[in-house]
Amino acid sequence: MDFNELADLIFPSAKEISYYEEKYPERNLPEGAAVTRFAPSPTGFIHIGGLFGSIIDRKIAEQSKGVFILRIEDTDQKREIENGVSQIVDGLKAFDIVPNEGMISENDEIGNYGPYKQSQRKEIYQAYAKSLIKQGQAYPCFCTQEELEEIRAKQESAKIKPGYYGVWAKYRNFPIDEAVAKIKNGDPYIIRFKSQGREDRRIKHKDSIKGNLELPENDQDIVIIKADGLPTYHFAHVVDDHLMRVTHVIRGDEWISSLPIHLELFKALGFKPPKYAHTATIMKDDNGSKRKISKRKDPEAAVSYYHEEGIPSDAVVEYLLNIANSSFEPWRRANPDKSIAEFELQLNKMSVSRSSF
Ligand code: GLU
Repeated sequence: MDFNELADLIFPSAKEISYYEEKYPERNLPEGAAVTRFAPSPTGFIHIGGLFGSIIDRKIAEQSKGVFILRIEDTDQKREIENGVSQIVDGLKAFDIVPNEGMISENDEIGNYGPYKQSQRKEIYQAYAKSLIKQGQAYPCFCTQEELEEIRAKQESAKIKPGYYGVWAKYRNFPIDEAVAKIKNGDPYIIRFKSQGREDRRIKHKDSIKGNLELPENDQDIVIIKADGLPTYHFAHVVDDHLMRVTHVIRGDEWISSLPIHLELFKALGFKPPKYAHTATIMKDDNGSKRKISKRKDPEAAVSYYHEEGIPSDAVVEYLLNIANSSFEPWRRANPDKSIAEFELQLNKMSVSRSSF
C-alpha cells in the first residue's frame, strides 16, 4: 500500500488537479489589474465591517480595471439560513456594490471561474486534498472528540501549547495499511494537512496595509476536509483564491494569526500566494473604552440599520472611506462635488490600527 492507493480509496472519483488548472487559467487582464473578492458567509446579515471590506474590494478592482468577485462561503452548513445569499446580494446592491463576477441572486451567478458558492465546489477541494495525500502532505485522522479532548487536557496540565501537532498528532505517521483497514471498516475520519513548520522559526511577510509582519511558522496539522466532505475555511481560501486567480485578498485583521497556515498551504500546493491586505477592525467607543462593534449589542453593526434610520447609503460609504483611508478627507475637502467613484484608494494609506466608528 502506498499514498496513491490511500488517496484513491479516500477520493475515488476526484479528478486530476491539472483538469482544474486548465479549466481556470490565468486571467487575461491589463497589467496591474487587481482581482479581489468579498467572501461572506450567508448568515442573513451584513456586518458594517463586511460592507467596509467590500467597498475596498470593489474600489481596488475598479480603479485597476480588474475584477471584483462575490463568493459565498457556505461550508459551515449549520449556520445556513434561507435566502442568505440574496440578502447579501441585495444588501450590497443598496450601497451600489454589484460584483463583476460571482453570485447575483440566491442561485444565479456570472463568470467563468465558478461555481461561486463553496458548497458547490466540493469535488474541487477534494481533488486538491487528494493530490496532497498522494504526496504524503495530508492524511486521514481518526481521532474521536473524546481523544482530542484528552490530548488537550494532557497539554493543559503539562502547560504546553494546545493543538494537534508534532508528537501530539496521533495519526500523522500512522501506517498506511492500518489507515486503509480503518477506512474499509467504516471508521469516521477527517483529512489533516501534514505541516512541515516549526514554532521556533519565524516567517516574514509584507502585508499591503500592515507593512512588514513577522510571525511564527505554523506547526499545527490543521483539518482541511471535514467529516461532511467539505473544506475548512483555511483550505477553501487557498484553493479558491488560487483557482479564481485572485490577486489581492482583502480581509479583516482577525485573520493575521492564520496567515502562516495559509502561506504554508500555498507553498505545499505549489501555488503563488496572493497579496494580502488585512484591514483594521472597526471599533466603537463604549464609555471611554474601545471594543469591537458587536452584532449582538450594537444595532449599527448591521448595514440594514442605516436604511431603517433613513441614513443615505452614500453617507455611509463616505463615512467608511473617511475612517478607512487617511487620504480621503483631504481629497473630499478639495473635491466637494466629485463622485466617490473618482477617489483613488491606496492600500498603503489605510489605517493600520483600529479605526473608531
Ligand atoms: N468567510 C470569511 C469571513 O466571513 C471570509 C474571510 C476572507 O475574506 O477570506 O470572515
